[in-house]
Amino acid sequence: KPILAIDHLEKKYGDTVVLKDINEQIQSGEVVCVIGPSGAGKSTFLRCLNLLEQPTAGEVRYKGQDILKFNKTQLSDYREKVGMVFQNFNLFPNMTVLENLKLAPKRVKHLSDSDATDAALTLLERVGLKDKAQVYPDSLSGGQKQRVAIARALAMNPEVLLFDEPTSALDPEMVGEVLSVMQELAEEGMTMVVVTHEMGFAREVANRVWFMADGYIQEDGTPNEVFEHP
Ligand code: ADP
Ligand code: ADP
Repeated sequence: KPILAIDHLEKKYGDTVVLKDINEQIQSGEVVCVIGPSGAGKSTFLRCLNLLEQPTAGEVRYKGQDILKFNKTQLSDYREKVGMVFQNFNLFPNMTVLENLKLAPKRVKHLSDSDATDAALTLLERVGLKDKAQVYPDSLSGGQKQRVAIARALAMNPEVLLFDEPTSALDPEMVGEVLSVMQELAEEGMTMVVVTHEMGFAREVANRVWFMADGYIQEDGTPNEVFEHP
């Protein structure tokens, strides 16, 4: 049974069709890389999966339940289970790294302050940034910021992580440190949907690659199938 099932998904802005009839399934533990040219609809697709954008037609089912029919409580539960990492990190600049990581677990999961601290420090260790707990995001490199953003997403114990071009805003020498954290997550069995231009990552880490252009998925296969086709 798929963890996410997408049926006849469509997104229009006015008369402009940005996503056309997308039909896909994602199994638990799968890593899907979404590739394709700029303007193809990749980011819009990802944002429809956690309802940052409202699809104009179709269904997205999470463990069999249509997320478009969720009430407020169900939707906030869903957003805990499906985390998102953005191109531009979206860290809170006026909070330390530790405070960034503790905010949602305290507010949403009602963790105590000390439990939230313990959990945050464990996550920072996992992304190699335990010594940065007390600094502000501004003093971090782009690669470090993105690793904090990944740790923050993990703080909610998600079942799925969505990544929207997580390395596109980084200087080239910092891309590798972020991709290796993502590769570790993949190896630990995290279900991931990754919009990326990093073909090496797609080839090596993805179970499936979707090539999107003009608002629909034109190819769907293993990395070998998608990259080696004649
Ligand atoms: P990609 O992530 O593949 O670069 P996007 O999903 O960002 O593509 O955009 C797909 C298309 O949808 C583009 O033509 C873009 O201009 C259009 N688009 C995205 N957001 C909006 C919006 N809020 N209003 C109108 N058009 C939009
Ligand atoms: P990306 O391709 O990196 O996702 P875009 O430049 O396509 O970035 O979009 C940046 C923001 O502008 C997004 O919030 C998107 O929804 C919005 N946007 C993109 N294209 C349009 C458009 N044609 N009209 C209105 N908003 C748009």
